Amino acid sequence: MKESNLLSGSLKFSVVIPVFNEADNLKTLHTRLTDVMSGLREPYEIIYVDDGSTDGSFQILKELHQEDSRVKIISFTRNFGQHIAITAGLDHSKGENVILMDADLQDKPEEIPKLLAKLREGYDIVYGHRNQRQDSFFKKITSKVYLSLLSKLTNETINPEISPFRIMTRRVVDYFNQFRERSRFYGGLVAWLGFPYAIVPVEHSERFSGKTKYNLAGMVKLGIEGIISFSDIPLRLIGRFGLLVSALSFIIGIYYLLVWIINGIPTPGYTSMIVSIFFMGGIQLIVLGIISRYIGNIHLEIKKRPLYVIKDKIE
Ligand code: UDP
Ligand code: MG
Repeated sequence: MKESNLLSGSLKFSVVIPVFNEADNLKTLHTRLTDVMSGLREPYEIIYVDDGSTDGSFQILKELHQEDSRVKIISFTRNFGQHIAITAGLDHSKGENVILMDADLQDKPEEIPKLLAKLREGYDIVYGHRNQRQDSFFKKITSKVYLSLLSKLTNETINPEISPFRIMTRRVVDYFNQFRERSRFYGGLVAWLGFPYAIVPVEHSERFSGKTKYNLAGMVKLGIEGIISFSDIPLRLIGRFGLLVSALSFIIGIYYLLVWIINGIPTPGYTSMIVSIFFMGGIQLIVLGIISRYIGNIHLEIKKRPLYVIKDKIE
């Protein structure tokens, strides 16, 4: 029998899930999620955003939709990335509250009622806090180092134990949907909005099936994007660094002047000259590199291309 919402039009919950090659996870995820959501006894929708999967995920999603009309599917023409997939899901969500979670069952659907109970105490965002984060040691370390760096660079505290697993009220989502920048780091953007939030401990699991979509290069890319899109502190540091180098060279200049006055002849300094030329050359290239990232970012944003391209939308 086809299930549907009794009260369409007043959706209480939307669940948004980005999906990229998660064929082996989807059925289990959907069963467990549906159990939890129907237990809440309020109308809801589940929006799966197929981010250009090539492993038959879309086919499985279509089957889920046929069995349950509360399943909506947005399917991209190609892979646009997790954060853009989440954006598309939020753009299309209609629920009064929106739940965000991963498709790999690392976030447990059974923890949703906990997040919801906290939200009802009057918060606008409730984050799941992964007490025992079930990721590789490498991932935990890099994400910790990166987020503490990002927190410093943005003056915003971003807790590394906070997962993307969260529930948000409609007004947070409506504001979030106004962000149309291309390079987006949604953890930071939601923190930037500044709505009252709470953190609730949740269990975190290993991936149900498959492996993480992020390799080292992917994480570095996301990391640099996060910093560049969020902070101009690297640009400001360049100026300060320039001042420091100038001050240093001034002091060195005085030192050689004194040496010249005392000894009469300047010391031959081939090595120090070559080293400092290379040193300064290197520094200048690094600085140029940093500036180029910002210019590259402007270049990308100024084109105002659509953030994603939808191939199929099944509602
Ligand atoms: N994901 C996506 N597009 C991508 C990469 C990942 O939609 O390009 C989805 C993926 O299917 C999963 C979530 O984003 O639902 C988190 O991905 P993953 O589990 O690989 O990341 P990790 O948990 O290792 O951070
Ligand atoms: Mg995962």
